[in-house]
Amino acid sequence: MIDIRIEKTTTPKEKPAAAGLGFGQTFSDHMFLMDYNNEKGWYNARIVPFGYLSIHPACTALHYGSEIFEGLKAYRKPDGSVQMFRPIENLRRMNRSAERLCLPQVPEEDFMQILDTFVGLEQDWTPSEAGTSLYLRPFMYGNDETLGVHAVHNATLAIIASPSGSYYKEGINPVKIMIEAEDVRAVRGGTGYAKCGGNYAASNRAGQRAEEKGYSQVLWLDGVERKYIEEVGAMNVMFKIDGTIVTPALTGSILPGITRMSCIEVLKSKGFTVEERLLSIEELEAALKAGKLEEAWGCGTAAVVSPIGELAYKDDIFVINEGKIGEVTQMLYDTLTGIQFGNGEDTFGWTHPVK
Ligand SMILES: *Cc1c(COP(=O)(O)O)cnc(C)c1O
Repeated sequence: MIDIRIEKTTTPKEKPAAAGLGFGQTFSDHMFLMDYNNEKGWYNARIVPFGYLSIHPACTALHYGSEIFEGLKAYRKPDGSVQMFRPIENLRRMNRSAERLCLPQVPEEDFMQILDTFVGLEQDWTPSEAGTSLYLRPFMYGNDETLGVHAVHNATLAIIASPSGSYYKEGINPVKIMIEAEDVRAVRGGTGYAKCGGNYAASNRAGQRAEEKGYSQVLWLDGVERKYIEEVGAMNVMFKIDGTIVTPALTGSILPGITRMSCIEVLKSKGFTVEERLLSIEELEAALKAGKLEEAWGCGTAAVVSPIGELAYKDDIFVINEGKIGEVTQMLYDTLTGIQFGNGEDTFGWTHPVK
C-alpha cells in the first residue's frame, strides 16, 4: 500500500451537460500526481485540484519525447454504480511501454491502488447517458532538468479524467479509410508496441492528408516492405475473410490493443476461427475480388468497434459489405458494450467495480 495524500478542491466545477460532451475537452475536479527519482524511487503520491503542471524548460519529455500514456474508461451501470473494463491490462501495458522508453515502472498493486483511489474520488464525473463514459488518461513523462541525453532519472506519473460523449451519436456508420503507402507509423525494433506520444506525432501527417481527401483515418502498412497490414489510425484492425477472422499478428510495430485482445476472446468463445498472422495488401485485394472479404472493422477503447465500409489504396477503391456494418462487427459491439455498461452478463470477469 502506498500513501496517497488527498487535497480536495474548494471550488468544485459544474458537471457539463451530456449533450455537449465531445472527447477530452472537459476535465474532472482533481488529478493524480506522483514523482520518481532513481535513488528515491516513487514518492509524493497525491491527488490535488486539477490544474496546470509546472515543468522546467529543459524537461526531458519536451526535448526527447520521453512520454507514454494509457486510455481507459469508467462506465455507469444501470444500477448507478461505476465500473472499469480490464484496467489491469492498461496498467501492465503502461509498464511495458515504460520499459521500452526507459521510464520507471510502477508495481502493479500500487498502480491499481492509485487508479482505484483516483477513480473512486472522481466517479461522480461519470455521465449516465447512453454511450457516455469517464475517460481516464494515465500518463508519464521524463522530468530531468537537463539537456543531457540519457535514460531518465526523474519522472512524473499523472492521471486525469475527462467525461466523454458517445462515440456514435448518429448511429454506427461505416468509415472510409485510406491505405497509407508512403509514411509509416512504426518499425519493428522501434516503439510501435509502446503507447507513446512520439508514435502519434509521427502519424499526424498521414492522418491529415487522409482527412483532406475525405477519409476518416489511415490504414498503416509495415515499415519495411509497405506490404503487410498493421493497424488503422489508433485502432487495431480485423477482417472477416471467407468466414475466418484475420488480424495482423503483434510483430512489435503494432500496439497490442485491449479491445483487440477482448474481440479475439469473444470471437473464440463464439466458435470463430481467429488467425493472428501477416496479412498482405495483395491477399486482401484478392479476397475482395473473389467476393470473400466479408467484413472489416477497427477496434479500440474509444469506438469499441468501427466498421470499415471503404478502403482506398492508391487508385483502387475496395467497398466492403456494400458499405454496411457486418454481423460479426455488430455482435462484437453489442457483446463488448453490454459488458462495459453492465447491460449484458460479464461471463469473462473483465469488469472492475469502482468503490
Ligand atoms: C491505444 C491504441 C490502440 C487500441 O488499444 P485499446 O487498448 O484497444 O484501446 C490501437 N492502436 C494504437 C496505435 C493505440 O494507441
